[in-house]
Amino acid sequence: MSPRGTRARASGRARRGIPAGSATRIGIVGGGQLGRMLALGGVPLGLSFRFIDTGADSPAAAVGDVLAGRLDDPRLLRQLVRASDVVSFDWENASVAALRRATRGLRARIAPPLRALAVGQDRLLEKRLFAKLGIPTTRHAAVSTLAQLERAVVRIGLPGVLKTRRLGYDGKGQAVIRSAADIPAAFRSLEGAPLLYEEFVPFESEVSALGARAPDGSEAIYPLTRNWHQHGILRLSIAPWDDAALLRQATRHLRAVLRELDYVGLLAIEFFVKEGRLYANELAPRVHNSGHWTIEGAETSQFENHVRAIAGLPLGSVALRGHSAMVNLIGRMPPRAELLAVPGLHLHDYAKAPRPGRKLGHCTLVAASAAERNRRTRALLRALALELPGVP
Ligand code: AMP
Repeated sequence: MSPRGTRARASGRARRGIPAGSATRIGIVGGGQLGRMLALGGVPLGLSFRFIDTGADSPAAAVGDVLAGRLDDPRLLRQLVRASDVVSFDWENASVAALRRATRGLRARIAPPLRALAVGQDRLLEKRLFAKLGIPTTRHAAVSTLAQLERAVVRIGLPGVLKTRRLGYDGKGQAVIRSAADIPAAFRSLEGAPLLYEEFVPFESEVSALGARAPDGSEAIYPLTRNWHQHGILRLSIAPWDDAALLRQATRHLRAVLRELDYVGLLAIEFFVKEGRLYANELAPRVHNSGHWTIEGAETSQFENHVRAIAGLPLGSVALRGHSAMVNLIGRMPPRAELLAVPGLHLHDYAKAPRPGRKLGHCTLVAASAAERNRRTRALLRALALELPGVP
């Protein structure tokens, strides 16, 4: 940028009252596709990115320096913190204790707050937070032994889902219990970890609420997103999902959590919808797969708003640019040329090695109307040989 442009930007920042020396160096624990897209959102703003990831060839390597090693390595974390103004994470299982130790006595801030990270790592803490804030959630019980599980099944009923309290994602660490005969096998499959048994919700749909909160308490809440999962993994998101009553509930719940946690950054909550009511399933203290459509479908993407928030910059508009659909590319990347031949398709290839069940990329369509978006989405799903019940 020319010196003139630099001056103009500097005076613009001063006019809006952004503190001088606000963060420009972002350190991220985890360098997966979320870290990569955070940098793709923040580099144009003049922010720089550094990551810790297990491999130097991680998706984020294309957009910043990667410190290669364990994500809880005290030496690497300290190195990351020293080289950063703000430290964030793209992985919700980043070690809370290691992060706390690494930032002790140093200037760098951590955002989102570690309390949010701790809550997001434990399904029981999530449920307790939802209950405290009056947010409906599934009926549940913490269980550690077979006898406790048997009692929980009697109290909560069948069918139900047994889940690990920690480290479960994309449907991993879960077993559905349909009858009493399933109990021993379900318990054995997850035994050893603290567990949670919850009612199976015969939901009509799944939606997610996404919003960012800045250190000054300002908030930017995205329109509601409807999600379709397959084998526990997100396959399709559509936004906006126009249901004013659900959006009101979701926004109220999201705001309650953002404020309770004194949150800074982007937060996602996933809900089940049953008989016009939302039941919180889980929260993610980070950018979320169901918000990828915002890159092309909103004025400011979830990634840019996350980095704006954690860097102490004003949040960007969440106004829509159209009606969006995002399809995950899982296990095997379709030929790039075939995808790019679809008019208006935006491809995001995370540059990951293919593996069954692995999220390798996503693509997004943005249309002028919901009807056109739905027509193009159905055609894309057919081309990808994906069958998802209930897609409009
Ligand atoms: P989770 O890891 O909790 O997000 O679960 C992944 C997916 O499994 C959800 O998005 C649902 O499609 C399904 N699922 C999880 N828990 C339940 C439940 N209690 N009742 C019905 N479906 C569930």
